[in-house]
Amino acid sequence: MHDFHVHSSFSGDCKHSMENMVKGALKIGAKSIAFTDHIDYEYGNPDINFVFDIKDYLKDITKIRNKHSHDLQILSGLEICMQPKVCEKNKILVSDYNFDFIIMSTHVVKGLDLHEGDFFENKKVLDAYEEYYNEILNNLDSFNNFDVVGHLNLIDRYSKYMNGTISLADYRDLLIQVLEKIISLGKGIEINTSGIRYGINSFLPNIEILKLYKHLGGEIITIGSDAHTPTDICSNYEDAKILLKDLGYKYISFFKERKSRFIKIE
Ligand SMILES: [Zn+2]
Ligand SMILES: [Zn+2]
Repeated sequence: MHDFHVHSSFSGDCKHSMENMVKGALKIGAKSIAFTDHIDYEYGNPDINFVFDIKDYLKDITKIRNKHSHDLQILSGLEICMQPKVCEKNKILVSDYNFDFIIMSTHVVKGLDLHEGDFFENKKVLDAYEEYYNEILNNLDSFNNFDVVGHLNLIDRYSKYMNGTISLADYRDLLIQVLEKIISLGKGIEINTSGIRYGINSFLPNIEILKLYKHLGGEIITIGSDAHTPTDICSNYEDAKILLKDLGYKYISFFKERKSRFIKIE
């Protein structure tokens, strides 16, 4: 198992040390994990700090990597929260340091947070989806120093804030544009298993989007638990692998020093 989305106490919303997260990984028998702590220069909520010292972060990863070199491969990554206004800062950050793997995520749209629900206020469901995916397109246009797009359909997690329902057919063309853009940039997506834990009964992205990505020629895909606690490392990993195989995917992707290689799905 190779979990390419793991948080530690460097993320403002995670209280578990790297050491504890590594213990969780060892307990479940993971082969490798990538720490992808969450950096956000403009989160907008003063109660949570998503900025940390990158030098300290990389130093701690190196320390724990060396300590566990015999039993676990530990990779250094980031989950970058992209917003157009922090694009330049993120560009400098990623080029100034050596990471193994970069996830680009969109948690905030036009300065409004999806998680807190602000983004959905007084908005029709279709408008929310269009704004969300257009923002991802903007982010893809302005920043391409990343490896995979995180939880591509994150918006699906927040139906509780929306009045009404929507089906993929309503915004399919826009979604295709996003997927085609990712593929044309030579980048990938992740299958983020946290959707199951958050009760939406599906991975992020869901089966429909995974099918569409494959159909459009998408090949690069990592599996990530988005664990914020040691027990969530590699959660539903086997299910994700089986699903990918069922959908015709032959490989999952593995990143080291920002280079990808394919690992055959057994
Ligand atoms: Zn995220
Ligand atoms: Zn995350």
